[in-house]
Amino acid sequence: MVATVNGSERARVVEVEALDAGYNGNAVVRDLSLHIREAEVVALLGANGAGKTTTLATIAGLQRPLAGTVRMDGKDIAGKPAHRLARGGLSLVPEGRALFASLTARENLRLSAGRDGNHDDVLDLLPELRKCLDRKAGLLSGGEQQMLAVGRAIVRRPRALLIDEMSLGLAPVVVERLLPVLRRVADELHTAVLLVEQHVALALEIADRGYVMAHGRLILESSAARLRSRRDLLKACYLGDLDRAAELAGDTEPDSSAEPAGG
Ligand code: ATP
Repeated sequence: MVATVNGSERARVVEVEALDAGYNGNAVVRDLSLHIREAEVVALLGANGAGKTTTLATIAGLQRPLAGTVRMDGKDIAGKPAHRLARGGLSLVPEGRALFASLTARENLRLSAGRDGNHDDVLDLLPELRKCLDRKAGLLSGGEQQMLAVGRAIVRRPRALLIDEMSLGLAPVVVERLLPVLRRVADELHTAVLLVEQHVALALEIADRGYVMAHGRLILESSAARLRSRRDLLKACYLGDLDRAAELAGDTEPDSSAEPAGG
């Protein structure tokens, strides 16, 4: 089944094909193909060291790909610098949040919004930020800081939003409040969202699809609904037991709500 909005096919905002990425010429991510459509939330899952951060950083222009293509709205963006991609609508929330700690939340939002920007819509999506506006970012709680980091990323209404480990160091109860915000960003701003998240079950609650990586390669693509119901398959992927994962994947009915990887 093809994803649709009002009966028409949703556009692919980000498309990655046969990507090799890594450090000092050594690939730690190999032959990776994925896509994110408009208004879609996609979870990029996998154990520590699987290559998720490297993938996000390469799509966002922080690293040059070693091989392969990265396109946004059909245009080749591989190797373009991150600040240009950010201006062109590709927003990354890196691990660690990247806020200006000594500025207030309002000033942080204004800096991202730029001269003509307006952060009122962001406050509609993130109402919890209203009470923090006049406090210094460095003095906010971890959850509030992460909310502000998301606010900074969406204030220019990005076409694509990449989020790395949003919940690092946060209590699950805080994560449960934060993740639905990303669903709303996809639904209301039609942003394509790619999410790396260790709280797998919570991420799959709000995602449409998921990709699973192991040892630098994509080993599974599926609808979030199927991944939610196949914990055994996910566990084998996380343990890096690829033979078992392939065997278990073969057990299931073909997944009609997801396309084949790279397809
Ligand atoms: P985590 O959840 O631990 O962040 P990840 O899935 O995001 O894991 P990456 O951080 O992309 O994985 O790491 C993939 C591989 O690349 C790992 O083997 C890691 O050691 C290696 N790596 C990461 N950063 C660098 C770097 N700056 N220089 C060299 N190797 C690196």
